[in-house]
Amino acid sequence: MNVSRRGFLKLAGGTLAAAGIGASVGVKSAHAKPSKIRYAREIPTVCPYCGVGCGIISHVSNGKVINTEGDPDHPINRGSLCSKGSALFQIPNNDKRLSKVLYRAPGSGQWEVKSWDWALDKIARNIKDARDKGFVRTNAKGQVVNRVENIASLGGASLDNEEVYSLVKFKRALGLVHLEHQARI
Ligand code: SF4
Repeated sequence: MNVSRRGFLKLAGGTLAAAGIGASVGVKSAHAKPSKIRYAREIPTVCPYCGVGCGIISHVSNGKVINTEGDPDHPINRGSLCSKGSALFQIPNNDKRLSKVLYRAPGSGQWEVKSWDWALDKIARNIKDARDKGFVRTNAKGQVVNRVENIASLGGASLDNEEVYSLVKFKRALGLVHLEHQARI
């Protein structure tokens, strides 16, 4: 049977209508929803999870991070992220994240809430006491070494160049010789 193009369309339409299909195919609105990040500030940052140091863009609106995604201009990852980096959004948006200093004294089974000032003083005091205790003036041959052998420092992958430079200067000034970095482990 020869069926013209017009005849085919009529036939197909009639068949669909008879099957009740046409009635359920309404005309839908075709415009996309506005993007939630269209008025957000873009802040470039670095993934803190490992030493690869992938670039990430944080979208911030009203002081809140509303989206994170790979930075397409970053030379290391060019927009791609692994599963951990892809889940970075949960770091600033997580009600389980600790927002206060918790301290457990030696031998205690209880956590106490402390202030940030208290924590900084405590860290400084512990470093000073340990340094005074472990400072080595001379080695076994009697040579002056002026170093600290009982404190080790481990850097984190979220530190950038300038932070690492400042921290290493500070630790060398204290006399530390055991410096390592998470990215090398
Ligand atoms: S996105 Fe993955 S590979 Fe890149 S820095 Fe983060 S954890 Fe490392």
